[in-house]
Amino acid sequence: MKLHTSGAIGLAAIAMFLQGCPDPNVCDPGEQQICPCVGGEGVQECADSGDGWESCDCPQTGLICGDSYCQGGESCETCPSDCGTCNSGGCGDNTCGAGESCETCPSDCGDCSTCGPQNFTVDCGNGYKCPANSTCSQDGNCFCNEGYVAESCSGQSCTSGCPAPDWWCVTGSSGSCGNGMCDASESCSTCPSDCGGCSCTLYAAAMAPMVQPAFDCSIEPDNNVKFFMADINEFWKSGIVACPCNADAYQYGCTGNAFVTSLSPGYNFYDPNFLYQQIFGQGGFPIVGALILAHETGHNIQLYYNVPASSPIAKELEADCFAGYFLGYLQCDGMLSMADVQAAFGTACNGGDPWYAPGTHGTCTDRMNALVQGMNGYKNGVEPLVACTF
Ligand SMILES: [Zn+2]
Repeated sequence: MKLHTSGAIGLAAIAMFLQGCPDPNVCDPGEQQICPCVGGEGVQECADSGDGWESCDCPQTGLICGDSYCQGGESCETCPSDCGTCNSGGCGDNTCGAGESCETCPSDCGDCSTCGPQNFTVDCGNGYKCPANSTCSQDGNCFCNEGYVAESCSGQSCTSGCPAPDWWCVTGSSGSCGNGMCDASESCSTCPSDCGGCSCTLYAAAMAPMVQPAFDCSIEPDNNVKFFMADINEFWKSGIVACPCNADAYQYGCTGNAFVTSLSPGYNFYDPNFLYQQIFGQGGFPIVGALILAHETGHNIQLYYNVPASSPIAKELEADCFAGYFLGYLQCDGMLSMADVQAAFGTACNGGDPWYAPGTHGTCTDRMNALVQGMNGYKNGVEPLVACTF
């Protein structure tokens, strides 16, 4: 009897199921619950009929922490399991963390001898970095060291226009056209790939010595002065000769000075010690030496072109203006940084008699204004003899 009763209940339950009666575990329509996804969780909703759950709505693969894809705003801070720990492992954790580089940790950061950002290991100290085997310049550019040439990551030889950090310095001939640096022996006309394409206007003043120098000019200028004069002569398309003073010129008054003489146009005489005192007095900017020689070249322009000047001071300010005119060219050609300009202005206001003496050369303000007048004259395309009349 007991067995029979129990058998009757079981049969009734089976009969109800086969007729489609409501499942006792059904959900409420619109109800939501958390459901498992690959590497995370999603949401699923109860079907409108209430007779079951719809499929689990999983977030897109890769956006979930724990799916092993470091994507969608995940970082070592928000999802170390996907993105790796934040530099916690140091070298060897497969993350090129702060303080690591291709030099200190190649296993995390890559090999320095390959092209790419990891190569930028030379710290310029001003927020910029340069590639291995290069040197930072004052204005944030990088120049490949001797024995190396610049090349883009696509294998093209690299000039100053090469985009950082997609270039590097590969072994190659140095001090020559194509190394990415405008060397002393090169110019925009002899090596446009290094020096730029001479797009800045040059002025053919065509000045060159016609007579023997009035003072002994047998001492060779050093390489720095040769470099300055090469730029000055390139701009004025001239052959002005720089002469370090010898005993006879010192007797004449060269000490602490630079000068030209109408006895022999075409020569810039200078006291080398004075030149370097001026350069280092302004913080070591070579532009200061170039400026002094450019000022003397301005006096040569006055000699060659009989430029009138209303007074001795006007004559000096005119020479400053011609020097400023040359600075305008350097600026156009990208060879003049703001620091250079400041050093140049400092020179006009600094130094000892007779280079700077308000009674003979004008005041600091006069001289800076004369430089600016020349720079603006060049910039605005005014002819030098028009721009610099005082
Ligand atoms: Zn002068």
